[in-house]
Amino acid sequence: MSPESRTFQDVTNYDSLTSEEFLPGGIVNDPGNSVLYITGGWRSERPVWNQENCNDCMLCWVHCPDSSILVENQKMIGIDFDHCKGCGVCALECRFDALEMITEPDSLSEEGGN
Ligand code: SF4
Ligand code: SF4
Repeated sequence: MSPESRTFQDVTNYDSLTSEEFLPGGIVNDPGNSVLYITGGWRSERPVWNQENCNDCMLCWVHCPDSSILVENQKMIGIDFDHCKGCGVCALECRFDALEMITEPDSLSEEGGN
C-alpha cells in the first residue's frame, strides 16, 4: 500500500464514536513504512562525519541500526539525519576517526555560530 493510499480515520468527533466505530489500533497494515516517520527528533547527540578521514570501509553502514549511513556507488556520502537517532554506534565502530559524536545543542551552536 502506498503512503498516499493509506486510510486515516477522522477522529475529530471521537467523543461521539462508539467503540465499534473506532478502527483497531497498533496494527501495521503497510509494511516498509518506517521511512515515513521522521525519528531524528529523538536524538540528543549526532555523529559528525569527517570526510577527509573516511576511507569508505562501510563499518558504520554495517552497524547502524537505523540504516542512516548514506551510500552511493559504494562510497559514504553522508548521514540521514531524518532517521539517525544518535546512538553513537557508528562513531564507536569507525576505526579511522572519521565520525565523532557531539551534542545537539553543540551542533546548533556550530551551525548558527552562537
Ligand atoms: S566507518 Fe568511518 S571510515 Fe568507514 S565508512 Fe564509516 S565513517 Fe568512513
Ligand atoms: S548515531 Fe546511530 S543511528 Fe545515527 S548514523 Fe550513527 S549508528 Fe546510525
